[in-house]
Amino acid sequence: MTTPEQMDWNNLGFGYTDTGKRYRAYYRNGAWEKGGITEDATITMSEAANVLHYGQTCFEGLKAYRTKSGEINLFRVDQNAARMRRSAERLLMPAYPEDWFVEAVKEVVAANADWVPPYESGATLYIRPFLIGLGASIGVSPADEYLFGIYVSPVGAYFKGGLTPSNFVVSDYDRAAPQGTGAAKVAGNYAASLYPGKKAKLDGYTDAIYLDPATKTKIEEVGAANFFGITKDNKFVTPLSPSILPSITKYSLLYLAKERLGLEVEEGDVYVDQLDQYVEAGACGTAAVISPVGSITVGDKKYVFHSETEVGPITKRLYDELVGIQYGDVEAPEGWIQKVPVK
Ligand SMILES: *Cc1c(COP(=O)(O)O)cnc(C)c1O
Repeated sequence: MTTPEQMDWNNLGFGYTDTGKRYRAYYRNGAWEKGGITEDATITMSEAANVLHYGQTCFEGLKAYRTKSGEINLFRVDQNAARMRRSAERLLMPAYPEDWFVEAVKEVVAANADWVPPYESGATLYIRPFLIGLGASIGVSPADEYLFGIYVSPVGAYFKGGLTPSNFVVSDYDRAAPQGTGAAKVAGNYAASLYPGKKAKLDGYTDAIYLDPATKTKIEEVGAANFFGITKDNKFVTPLSPSILPSITKYSLLYLAKERLGLEVEEGDVYVDQLDQYVEAGACGTAAVISPVGSITVGDKKYVFHSETEVGPITKRLYDELVGIQYGDVEAPEGWIQKVPVK
């Protein structure tokens, strides 16, 4: 197995590395056990486990950041705990208690502290909590046993190029139905996005953009990231819809755009035939951080935002503010950063 000392932190991709320690907790006989750290990366389950057939599974994604002074920061982990509870409820799964979720994240990061990449390497420790239905059943019904787990893996940039703009194409496919599971971080949404994502890549784009499934006129998601645009008169606009995954990064940017950059902000409709209103655009999420959207192709029309090669000025200021807060270089709004205690 690779050790932290062998890592080339500055050239990391977005891949899985086994760090040796993970978290496991089981739900049996109607109750969660607290669980703890284990070294076994595998999971043993019945061939009839719900997760394998009926898809009772949801997940979260967040990161641990190494600060300049060597401390470890978590960004808004309480929001991930709350969102996982909502995802679990949507699939009729018992949520692992939110306060235990936060403690478990801290425990697993502390156990893997050497795997949190150095400050300024551009890499972070990605944290992946997940919840799966284990109990055996043949009929469509919720499982009676569940596993809550967390693994971690050091990662580099999600979209290669970091702050270099990427080009996207509007997909004919939907990732979620209007009143389906789009707002929950559940596995089925991602299985549904693999084919359209592959198609977009084969056509030379970074990823697919999904429109609202009911009317196909408004932008919803950029691959597995949320969308924002900056209008000519400097308004920060981001889509609002029940089939969008509510990105914690997006809600943080809404706050920062208003409170720190003094911009007008709006959660509303982003019509795909009115994209010429926007002078900058971006994709945002924990993995994507903020990735500038250089262009969007809609049928035979191509909209370019700011530039296909350089990040726009407002996108750059938002990026610096957000990333500065995550790494502890910029003062965080109350409650946004939690420290992982390390020896
Ligand atoms: C996780 C995710 C996001 C980003 O959410 P964050 O909380 O900012 O990480 C956006 N869209 C989809 C579809 C996602 O799964």
